[in-house]
Amino acid sequence: MTEKHDDQNVQEEQKEQQEVSLYEKLANRTAEILEEGRKTTDEALKKAKEELASAGEFSREQADKVGNYVRRDLMENARMAKDAVVKSVDPQRLAAGAQSAFSRILTSAAEALSEVAAKAEKNLEFHTGEVTSPGTLTCKDCGKELHMTSTTRIPPCPKCHKTLFRKSY
Ligand SMILES: [Zn+2]
Repeated sequence: MTEKHDDQNVQEEQKEQQEVSLYEKLANRTAEILEEGRKTTDEALKKAKEELASAGEFSREQADKVGNYVRRDLMENARMAKDAVVKSVDPQRLAAGAQSAFSRILTSAAEALSEVAAKAEKNLEFHTGEVTSPGTLTCKDCGKELHMTSTTRIPPCPKCHKTLFRKSY
């Protein structure tokens, strides 16, 4: 291997590490903004991207690119959280206790989540080279499962070397 190739590999590794770091910063900041309330997921993500790009640590292009990964994972989470909320609420119990804070929270959470989830496609595709949050990726071609415990860049399938996955948590 020539020195030039070594330099390229080092640069590539630095870029990958930077995107993983940016992903985690963006996801955390977006969650904080959402917890403050009065913002939709898209508004919160946009604000988080602007803050990080303004700080100068990352370019706007990087923030946009990694922001798309964060958005996709948020959508996928919202879709699954909504399924969980809908399954856990007994409609009769909800009607009987319609004034209780508990049911109001569940109802508003379900509404807020369904707004997000309605925009999310089912069974989103995940590709090699993208950054994503912890979870299980399953190769669409051979079914090999990759268990990821931290934010990571998606590798090629270790078994069949294909690049398309679906994700579960
Ligand atoms: Zn495979």
